[in-house]
Order: sequence, then C-alpha cells, then structure tokens
Amino acid sequence: MSTEFYPLTPPKTVVAILRLLEAAGHETWCVGGAVRDALLGHEHLDWDLATAATPQQVRRLFRRTIPVGIDFGTVGVLDDAGVMHEVTTFRRDVKTDGRHAVVEFGASLEEDLARRDLTINAIAFSPTAGVIRDPFEGRMDLERRVIRAVGDPDQRMREDRLRALRAIRFAARFGFSIDAATWDAIVRSAPHLGRLSPERVQQELNKTMQQVDKPSIALEMWRRSGALGSLLPALASVSDSTLSMLDVLRRPLRPSQDRRRVHRLAALFSECEPNDAERALKLLRFSNSDAEWIAQTLERWLRIAPELEAALNGEHPVSDTDIRKWVATVGRLRVPAAWRLSAARAGAQKLSAMSENWFGAIHSTYRRALQSAARDAVELADLAVDGDDLRSAGIPPGRAYGVILRRLLDCVIEDPSRNVREWLLQQATQQYSEIKKRIAD
Ligand code: ATP
Ligand code: MG
Repeated sequence: MSTEFYPLTPPKTVVAILRLLEAAGHETWCVGGAVRDALLGHEHLDWDLATAATPQQVRRLFRRTIPVGIDFGTVGVLDDAGVMHEVTTFRRDVKTDGRHAVVEFGASLEEDLARRDLTINAIAFSPTAGVIRDPFEGRMDLERRVIRAVGDPDQRMREDRLRALRAIRFAARFGFSIDAATWDAIVRSAPHLGRLSPERVQQELNKTMQQVDKPSIALEMWRRSGALGSLLPALASVSDSTLSMLDVLRRPLRPSQDRRRVHRLAALFSECEPNDAERALKLLRFSNSDAEWIAQTLERWLRIAPELEAALNGEHPVSDTDIRKWVATVGRLRVPAAWRLSAARAGAQKLSAMSENWFGAIHSTYRRALQSAARDAVELADLAVDGDDLRSAGIPPGRAYGVILRRLLDCVIEDPSRNVREWLLQQATQQYSEIKKRIAD
C-alpha cells in the first residue's frame, strides 16, 4: 500500500466536511471521479467522500443534509453556500443481478474500493494525511492509459451490465485503450445489455454526447462490441462517416452544452427513418420533447439537405428564394440545427477539404438563413391575411382554407413583396374558384 504524499487539492469546503467527520472519529477519504481527474490534471467539480460513518451519523453531524440515496448510503451535505457534497458510507455488495445491487454498510475502505467499476475510479485520497490508497493499481493504469475492471472483469460486468458502457465512455473520453480481458468481458456482456433499465442506458448515451470530445470513438466501440445491436438495433450497422459527424458538429455559439447533445443525437440517427429514430429514443425514455424535436429536425433537414449541400459544393448559386424555401421547410427554430448537420456531414466526408470555398459558402448561406428567419414570412402565421380575412372576402370556411393559405405562403416565399392584404385576398379568391371548379368537374 502506498503512502506517498500527493499534491491533490480538493476544495476547502470538501476538506472541511472531511475534517469534521474525522474529528468525530470516522475514517473518511476522497474517492472516485474527482481523484481520478485530479491525477490526470483535469478539473472536476464534484469531490465525493467515502466514510466509515453510517448515514445516520453523517446526518447528525451536519446542520443541513439531504438524503440523496439513503438506501445506498449517500447523504448530501450542504456547505455554507448551499452547495451539496456527497458523502457515502463504505459499503459492500451483498446481492447483484446485473441491474441493481443490495449493499451493506460496515465495510472497510478496501472493500468499498473493491466494489467500484474500474481501477482508475477506485483510488482514494486523504487530504489530511496526504496519502493515497490504490489497491488495484489505478495510477499505473492512468499512466499506461488503460481502462481495466477492478477484479475479474466477467464477474464485475455480470454484477452490473452498465459497467460495460461506462468502461467504453471513459476510454473514449480520455483516449485510453481497454485492457484485453476487460474488452472481452464487454463483448460477452453485449447480448445482456437489454436488461438494463432504459433510463440508465439513456443517461450513458447522454453523458457520452456531453462529456466525450469524439463520441464516434465511443459509438464505434458500442458497435464493435455488439452493444449498439442490443440496445439500438436501428443503429447496429451505422456507418463510420455518420459517426464522424458527431465529432465535427460545431459547438453552438452560446455555450449551451445541451443543444450540442441534441444535435449529436440527431446526427447519430441521421441514417434512420425519422419515425424509427423517434421510436428508438422513446424506448430509451428520452423525453417526448427530445425525441420529437430530433425526429422532426431530421425529417425537415433531410428534405433540404440534398439541395443545400449541392449549393455548398458550388454546384449552383444560392438565390434569396432558395434561402427562404429552406428556412420555411426546416422552420425558423431549426435553422441552426439544419446548417450544423449539413456542415458536419460535409466535414465528416472531408468535402470541406475538397472545396476551398466551402467554408465561405456555409457561413454566408447560414448568415442569410438567419436573417431570413428573422425577417421573412416563412410560416402561415406570418401571412398578412388569415382565415378571418378569407371569410370576410366571401370564401366559405372549410378544408380549402388550409390549401389556400399554404399556396399563398408559397407565393410569398417566391416574392416577399406579395405579402400584402390586397394581393393575397385577390389571389385567394382566384384560388378558391379554381378549387371549386376542380371539385365540380
Ligand atoms: P463522471 O461523474 O465524471 O462521469 P465519475 O467517476 O465521478 O465520473 P460517477 O458515475 O459520478 O462517475 O460515479 C462515482 C464513482 O462511483 C465512480 O468513480 C466509481 O468509483 C463508482 N461507480 C459509479 N458507477 C459504478 C458502477 N456502475 N459500478 C461500480 N462502481 C461505480
Ligand atoms: Mg461523478
């Protein structure tokens, strides 16, 4: 067991909580992701503590606590600023079934580290003693850049199938390789992944989209291990170039990580029928708004993508009418997503390397599309007339209204100067008589 000094520096508030637990006689350590990330020289905001104190003892020691996962021994301790820090009682697994575990308290630090998934996640650090405990040689694996299960990989994956996906996520996130025995256990786990709760799988997929710089590396491992086939059959043989789209998708200008997560999911499903994408996402319990937004975005983007991408390749000049048509087809709010998806697809296929003007073309068409979305009439609601106006013009209400308004919008998209009441009503009357005549014939 090593007792070297390490200059790891958890936040003061975390050290204060740890000191209070120690002063009350409870052995306490920093554990998990924060220790791993600190050793890698990365910043990590959530420093988790593991302690010999029972959850009840933790709750009695601190003024403000939240029972975040009391059955699993986790208590949230609020610091003076109201920020929560997780304190978890040392535990060992007494029963596992591949999905959940029943845990028992009264374990030692070593037992607690032994139930963790990967060696790099099973390192403990004591800021008061300046000591590291690393019984599974996690630091060696950090140095070798290897992902390795703690203990027997097959057994550990059988206990909790999610570990297969976690191992892949950490490998992709840090650019590490996966130890051969651990990889074989992941492959043997793949057929059983369907037993995981959809919510946990969804969370892994989301974390992959949020945390991993090159999600294609993770998804390629999902595919090669068979995980993709088990969990998302529609994507079992997704192409490399579609996976590359996830890596080159640009970050949104405003730092909303969540938009990129959604854009990356849309790119991932871009080879599928939008309906199949929606179904697959709903099966993983993605919110209806995520699933429907992604399916709709794909459906609309696919309608403009061939023309937009041909234009970006310089095959023809882009008129204002083209821009308005594209904006109307994808809808105002989906302009950024549609342009990013096309840019990512071209980037993934290295089209950008082929055409020097390509970058200029994507920027200028995007700028024009945003201007058009802000200024032009591209939705029925933007027309200078509505159903009431049609009625006052003597057109009897009915199904013809939808058809007429849609055609009026097409006329306005062709030429925005037509979006004036007189012109539109005259056009509407003419269209109505045509419709009536066609029905009579
Ligand atoms: P990050 O939060 O950056 O994704 P993390 O390592 O903090 O990474 P968490 O999911 O927050 O990951 O879990 C905290 C710690 O709990 C891990 O470092 C690991 O030691 C342990 N752990 C988490 N999930 C499992 C699991 N399924 N099986 C075993 N141990 C786990
Ligand atoms: Mg964490």
